[in-house]
Amino acid sequence: MPDLKLKSCSNAPVLKERGQREVFCGLTSIIWLHRKMQDAFFLVVGSRTCAHLLQSAAGVMIFAEPRFGTAILEETDLAGLVDAQNELDREVDRLLSRRSDIKQLFLVGSCPSEVIKLDLSKAAERLSKKYAPSVRVINFTGSGIETTFTQGEDECLAAMVPTLNESPSRQLVVVGALPDIIEDQMRNLLSLLGIGPVAVLPASSANQNISIGKNTVFAATQPFLAETFSALVGRGAKHIPAPFPFGAKGTTAWFKAIADEFGISREKFESVVGPPRARAQRAIEQASQILRNKTVFFFPDSQLEIPLARFLTAECGMNALEIGTPFLHRPLVGPDLELIPEGPLLSEGQDVDLQLDRALKQRADLTVCGLGLANPLEARGLSTKWAIELVFTPIHFYEQAGDLAGLFSRPLRRRSILRQEAAE
Ligand code: SF4
Repeated sequence: MPDLKLKSCSNAPVLKERGQREVFCGLTSIIWLHRKMQDAFFLVVGSRTCAHLLQSAAGVMIFAEPRFGTAILEETDLAGLVDAQNELDREVDRLLSRRSDIKQLFLVGSCPSEVIKLDLSKAAERLSKKYAPSVRVINFTGSGIETTFTQGEDECLAAMVPTLNESPSRQLVVVGALPDIIEDQMRNLLSLLGIGPVAVLPASSANQNISIGKNTVFAATQPFLAETFSALVGRGAKHIPAPFPFGAKGTTAWFKAIADEFGISREKFESVVGPPRARAQRAIEQASQILRNKTVFFFPDSQLEIPLARFLTAECGMNALEIGTPFLHRPLVGPDLELIPEGPLLSEGQDVDLQLDRALKQRADLTVCGLGLANPLEARGLSTKWAIELVFTPIHFYEQAGDLAGLFSRPLRRRSILRQEAAE
């Protein structure tokens, strides 16, 4: 009997690189987290640079009452001339006396607050006591020194885990922020399968008490939640390992792992997932024509690289040349690695110059990379896809499977149109 594992990427050696990185910091994740948690406020304790990053990442969205802001550390704070803790207390007082809608306040660390070693955990503890029970104050870091952009969500959710109630009852917790419409699709399928109760972390409001304990099982919808994973396991919850729910196969495998955990029969499973799976397969088939037999190269950016490489190779007929990821967390991405055929170079971390040399030598048909690298690579004749778009676009589960394939086929289509026009 051949050892099938040898033929997948599971046992492939990993090239580990440490050097200059080209990624956004964890503050970026506030943009999608504040939309998800309707009664939360994210107060970044940082500099004017941090405020600018947030404003430009938020783009044109102007809120009458925004749910994120920056407590600016002035030069005097940075020089240690004033007590930044007192300043922070005053800022929080001003905010909470004006905004009774805030039920969860996140104090978000940044590079400047890390550099001056401002202890935000102490501040969160002090302020939590002061404003309990109406407001819960939690701290996490989004500093570019410590986090890449999707790690901001991981830090945030991991910081919430110790605040969750203890519960002995059997339940499923689904971990990862998803757009509401996608979360509804997921809940609907789980409910048709007869699986419940289901809680989602993060919940849309602080009132939706999520509890956790030895009988909790959890499934992740985002592969960048390594700290949250450890925090949940630390509270006694059991992880359900599965490929991530991208595409028809990934989504089926994700639901199947949960269904097996809850003892759902094969017949029931097939009757529920059969129709949406067939729709997804048709949509992928259509959208992925142009991707068949093409090559793809992933720079490390969103941490979605391994599951997406699995989708592109196993469901869209692409060949991966290199799959770069900022961190390779096997308990989370192992099931996807098992489904990627041996062949591509797996790399973890980044030394951007060396990696650019490899990308330019290999000239993949499609290069998935961060914003900063896309233009220079396009100028060298490569087709690129911005990795950050994959985090901001709904791509999970069956109904989005065709759109996900479409996100990758569009740059190739655009380039072939440009070539045709140039030839005419
Ligand atoms: Fe820049 Fe650091 Fe602020 Fe992020 S946290 S915007 S990397 S200064």
